[in-house]
Amino acid sequence: MTELLSNYAAGRWQAGTGNGTPLFDPVLGNELVRVDSTGLDLDETFAFARQQGGAALRALTYRERAALLAAIVNVLQANRDAYYEIATANAGTVKNDSAVDIDGAIFTLGQYAKWGDALGDTRALRDGEAVKLGKEPVFQSQHLQVPREGVALFINAFNFPAWGLWEKAAPALLSGMPVIVKPATATAWLTQRMVRDVVDAGVLPVGALSVIAGSSAGLMDQLQPFDVVSFTGSAETAGAIRAHPAVTHRSVRCGIEADSLNSAVLLPGEAPGSEAFNLLVREVVREMTVKSGQKCTAIRRILVPAEVYDAAAEAIGAKLAGVTVGNPRNDSVRMGSLVSRAQLASVREGLAMLSAHTRVLHDGRDRPLVDADPALAACIGPVLLGARDADTAQLVHDVEVFGPVATLLPYRDSAHAVVLTQRGRGSLVTSLYGRDEAALTRITLAVAGSHGRVHVVTPDVGRAHSGHGNVMPMSQHGGPGRAGGGAELGGLRALDFYHQRSAVQASPTVLAALGLPDLA
Ligand code: NAP
Repeated sequence: MTELLSNYAAGRWQAGTGNGTPLFDPVLGNELVRVDSTGLDLDETFAFARQQGGAALRALTYRERAALLAAIVNVLQANRDAYYEIATANAGTVKNDSAVDIDGAIFTLGQYAKWGDALGDTRALRDGEAVKLGKEPVFQSQHLQVPREGVALFINAFNFPAWGLWEKAAPALLSGMPVIVKPATATAWLTQRMVRDVVDAGVLPVGALSVIAGSSAGLMDQLQPFDVVSFTGSAETAGAIRAHPAVTHRSVRCGIEADSLNSAVLLPGEAPGSEAFNLLVREVVREMTVKSGQKCTAIRRILVPAEVYDAAAEAIGAKLAGVTVGNPRNDSVRMGSLVSRAQLASVREGLAMLSAHTRVLHDGRDRPLVDADPALAACIGPVLLGARDADTAQLVHDVEVFGPVATLLPYRDSAHAVVLTQRGRGSLVTSLYGRDEAALTRITLAVAGSHGRVHVVTPDVGRAHSGHGNVMPMSQHGGPGRAGGGAELGGLRALDFYHQRSAVQASPTVLAALGLPDLA
């Protein structure tokens, strides 16, 4: 039997009492570890986190809590090699792709440590300036933000076991809220290991961080009015979270990061071979292949002027042809596997669905895998689809194939391109490629209302831009509509979710005595 990973709940390590659900190596097919949360006392777990963890965190200032984040960074840095090994084994990712998750997590924590330190030794934050409530300024209103006195429950997706925890935990812990994370079962090992290292290092107050690796059963039932739940995953599960009485009846604050049909747009007038054209091609290939396309921000729809459709298909296909797929332990492999055979089946199912409205422009499925048995490995080569009529190819705007798959679509003019981006019904990100700054500005403003992020690539930032799909802690992550309506990161804006805003109405003397710093 493989190792049964423990849960950290109510301040102690506890093994589940069931047989456990096995986690597999998606390339070799062997069982790695098991997870199980059967028999955990969830009443005790949540109460302990709220009472012990929450009280201890709120007793600290922002600067002191920022120092905790910096201490977590040190722990994670010290154990980084182990995380890479787990990622290779359990997620099937090549080193560069594991880095997006692991080093992305460490970088994000480090940023919040810095930003938090700058907030200083205070326990509440100013929200705007004081305004007078009458003719004379003797009685005023000052909004402030204080930490919510509950627990932050994270229910996370399988594709970012490291970053998915820490991009949420950094602002939550900085805000003074204790965290309970329930990672997706398929890749729970890395999350559990990181929590284990941080707990064992003793850098956080007891109860500030708990991990439940196993079933989600009963977690939502625990939530009380001052708690928050942050969910990342499919639109379907998001629906169940939103409909739970904790959210509908107890007003538990709920953040949802769901799936998204992100797009990339080559601006009109950009000929094949132009800098903007080449930048789009490079970015599309990167987005299709990083983490085998298992990124919520990945480019799914590529919008190009109709007259360059064929040239774009050829250029993207030519680059995809050079992508080697297989065992991430082989240095010649550029793209590892999907996370599981179940995910492989889901990608194949998605491709079969899209075949009703598209044709295959590049097929990486017929290339041999490197060092991997196709009967065992969850590997699939990249597939570029195309539809010459972007308006009628409805499925392309509906179906998220969570793998190395994207569809090329032609548009007539920039107004048509804007409408097509919006057919995603709200997306995390769109990226625009072109030289014409006036046109870029117009389109940016036209698409900003339906996208959480607009990534504009002009030739002068060709080397410097941070990447269409890379989520940077400085910028908001989350989009309207189908993308879930969430808003994470964006610097200190992320703290809003974990704070309660309150309007204090009092004399200027009392307001001044609150000693509030600015929330930039
Ligand atoms: P999922 O199947 O919806 O699962 C997400 C999480 O919800 C897992 O931890 C899962 O636990 C848990 N869960 C399942 N049923 C639940 C229920 N009834 N109540 C409470 N929790 C429940 O999604 P996934 O397959 O892991 O992730 C892939 C999807 O996530 C893709 O669609 C992708 O676009 C999206 N995603 C979005 C973002 C973003 O930031 N917008 C980021 C990453 C991924 P188990 O694993 O134990 O079932």
